[in-house]
Amino acid sequence: MKAIRVEEFGEPDVMQFVEQPDPKVSGREILVRIHAVGVNPVDTYIRAGTYARKPQLPYTPGSDGAGLVAAVGRDAEGIKPGERVFLSGSISGTYAELALCAPEQVHALPDNITFAQGAALGIAHATAYRALFHRGQVRAGETVLVHGASGGVGTAAVQLALASEIRVIGTAGSPEGRDLVRDLGADQVFDHKVVGYQDAILDATSRRGVDCILEMLANVNLGDDLRLLAPCGRVVVIGSRGRVEIDARDAMMRDADIRGMILGNASPSDLAAIYKSLAELLAAGQIRPVVGLDFALAAAADAHRAVMAAGARGKIVLIP
Ligand code: NAP
Repeated sequence: MKAIRVEEFGEPDVMQFVEQPDPKVSGREILVRIHAVGVNPVDTYIRAGTYARKPQLPYTPGSDGAGLVAAVGRDAEGIKPGERVFLSGSISGTYAELALCAPEQVHALPDNITFAQGAALGIAHATAYRALFHRGQVRAGETVLVHGASGGVGTAAVQLALASEIRVIGTAGSPEGRDLVRDLGADQVFDHKVVGYQDAILDATSRRGVDCILEMLANVNLGDDLRLLAPCGRVVVIGSRGRVEIDARDAMMRDADIRGMILGNASPSDLAAIYKSLAELLAAGQIRPVVGLDFALAAAADAHRAVMAAGARGKIVLIP
């Protein structure tokens, strides 16, 4: 099979497009022929060698993908070759034509969802779900600010919130991104690059503030976020790329919470419940993953540069 291999950590070009032996299934494992691969920012941190969790070298990147079951181990239950699936992890890495998976990493992909959309589900949708409902505890009738609504996690969060009758205010840094977030149904959309946009967000809530903020770039925004919260508001920190200074009094004044999250901290039962809920929402047509850009698998380095660039429009996928 063709696959991406990383022999040393570093810049995007350390990813080599190579021929590899096909993985073999055993026990309860499932082999999936990958039709689309989801690209996540964390793939770039791992490739650069700057992430807390480092794989043993050499390795094939990627945990998200979608495709058809190619083979199952002799002890695998309830799944057959030919079934459409999406992945939330992989033993061998998804930047490849074939990926070996554990049973809990493989989920049924409804017929109304394309493989590219399926590849957008794993990390981004589960993160958005956990941030909104487990960590943010946002309820119907509340207002959430999706701070960075144009990307993979943001577009998922907008749709999940709207499906639960939560009012959504979003931000994006490009006109295309703002159009996308508006088209998804956000009530109001602001440009997080414009000076003073925070004041416009307060105006949009009649100066009360929002109940919850899903924050994609806490190192830039956390200090201001605390001043955008309603009483008992919560900031869920999903993304942060550096240190930040806050005035703790802004939290005190509002009885506000700052809640961090990493999807990997979710328990196996929480993850199973999240993927079950996502499957139901997909089948009901209440969420439709947004794919903004695709690249050939051989161009994985370009995809890594693109996912770290401004101007997000949903997920980036690779096509083997
Ligand atoms: P993505 O698809 O690359 O999207 C990045 C988002 O951040 C875009 O909406 C972008 O908007 C927005 N952004 C850029 N500058 C911003 C600013 N100043 N204020 C607010 N938002 C800004 O990435 P993603 O997959 O959605 O992930 C978002 C972040 O969450 C990343 O840092 C990622 O590492 C992290 N993450 C964490 C977890 C976890 O478990 N905690 C899981 C998944 C992702 P424009 O491009 O329109 O400017």
